[in-house]
Amino acid sequence: MRGRMMEMPLLVSSLVEHAGGVYGDQAVVSRNTDGAVHRYSWRDVRDRSRGLSGALAARGITAGDRLATLAWNNHRHLEIYYGVSGMGAVCHTLNPRLHPAELAFVLNHAEDRILFLDTTFVPLAEAIADKLPRVEAYVVLTGPEGMPETKLPNAVAYEDLLSGAEGGFTWPTLDEHDAASLCYTSGTTGNPKGVLYSHRSTVLHAMAISMPDVFMMGSRESVLPVVPMFHANAWGIPYSAALTGTKLVLPGPRLDPTGLTELLTDEGVTCCAGVPSVFIPLLQHWRDQGVRPPALERVLIGGSAPPRSLIAALEGEFGIEFLHGWGMTETSPLGSVNRVGREWLDRGVEERSIFQTKQGRPPFGVELRIVDDQGAPLPHDGTAGGELQIRGPWVAAGYFRDDTERLTSDGWFPTGDVATIDAQGYMQITDRTKDLIKSGGEWISSIDVENMAMGHPEISMAAVIGVPDERWGERPLLIAVPAQGATPTRDEVLTFLGERLAKWQVPDDVVFVEQLPMGGTGKVQKSKLREEYGG
Ligand code: ADP
Repeated sequence: MRGRMMEMPLLVSSLVEHAGGVYGDQAVVSRNTDGAVHRYSWRDVRDRSRGLSGALAARGITAGDRLATLAWNNHRHLEIYYGVSGMGAVCHTLNPRLHPAELAFVLNHAEDRILFLDTTFVPLAEAIADKLPRVEAYVVLTGPEGMPETKLPNAVAYEDLLSGAEGGFTWPTLDEHDAASLCYTSGTTGNPKGVLYSHRSTVLHAMAISMPDVFMMGSRESVLPVVPMFHANAWGIPYSAALTGTKLVLPGPRLDPTGLTELLTDEGVTCCAGVPSVFIPLLQHWRDQGVRPPALERVLIGGSAPPRSLIAALEGEFGIEFLHGWGMTETSPLGSVNRVGREWLDRGVEERSIFQTKQGRPPFGVELRIVDDQGAPLPHDGTAGGELQIRGPWVAAGYFRDDTERLTSDGWFPTGDVATIDAQGYMQITDRTKDLIKSGGEWISSIDVENMAMGHPEISMAAVIGVPDERWGERPLLIAVPAQGATPTRDEVLTFLGERLAKWQVPDDVVFVEQLPMGGTGKVQKSKLREEYGG
């Protein structure tokens, strides 16, 4: 027997309608590309995104068309999220840190009709425009006064596009399974692959991440996503903020410690989110300046494994709660979060921070399991390790314009990560399948060794790769960035690790470098390190 309830689709437009109608006065603050701080409200976001939908419809954009963005986290980008998806088109966020050839590949693969871009990225777009036959117009995110000289064909200022718009656009009632947005994985191997999110997956994910014990969003909160809007939709925060009426603070291009600290302080930010490599220099800046953003209660870190020393510093030194998230572009992205239970609160920071290196438990909606080489499920005992698999309504079933079957025969998505899951359901990533090091038949977790190395007071960043070894197959090599002003020696670092790791896990050698190669989403590019040091 079917229930007798209304059939109402879950749509991205309903999020901004809700925010504009119910939390209309709540602030949305953003740092413009020119550095100035822009402030308006959720009501304005709703009205202007409706206007954008109208303007796009007037230009002949229809449901299912892909429209791309090359933009920082700012208010116009937010309006594009809602205006494009709201009318039924697909908002395709591009990662500006990709190689220009890769950007052109992705734009052509998606067949984007319009490219919205910040003034910063005009030269980048000019360099590839002749390879983009399908892009009909370039909309520069500025008013007419800020419009740069450009040879981009059909370039128009965003504010001009909007001012010509018909008012009173009504969002269409779409099918909730229709595509809403598109994000390509960074494609460390082979060509980038497109993850095509639906309206339904976006709304369900936004509801899940808003919950207590996840991001804890709400109208009393002020949240700043450092994570870019082109990186898995800023982890869903722009949607979840609308759903909950949270104040949203968008940092624009200023991701340096001074710029971030200024916004975190001035806007009373209670929660911010990003990858570990953003927070390491940020904490150092607070230490050097003797400051701490006064309202900041929580920090959500994910995207790669945060070192234990960072967790302990946040909680012990600055009194800021650390939340650990794991996910992938393919999982919208949130797949698990670690918020420690009450029983941990009165234990010491040192002990707790070890536990907090675990990536945590899945929120309601997604399920996790680990499997062995034959695909057989492994026990959740905290010891057995195998490939992590995930399923749920915001997990990719396949890629855009790609017929390859990506799921297991029983419908799970294989993540390529290796993990353990304990009896309480806490998952811990030990490595990516391709980063594990196999030495003399034993697996060495590069994440473990990196974590230990970053616990050395004179090391700020570390990466461990396997290098071929005649006797052992592979041996770990540590590549480390010394802390500011420090000059650690190889022997000192190896002795430090020798006291903390099993003998066979200790790297054979240390290379000191000024910086590590970082990929487009703020992760260390181990493939580059392997190319350079693998021999
Ligand atoms: P890409 O796979 O192209 O690097 P993603 O942003 O989708 O882009 O990265 C997902 C991967 O990032 C995961 O499969 C995992 O290896 C890694 N990752 C994400 N969060 C964490 C975390 N908290 N700890 C360790 N690794 C993480």
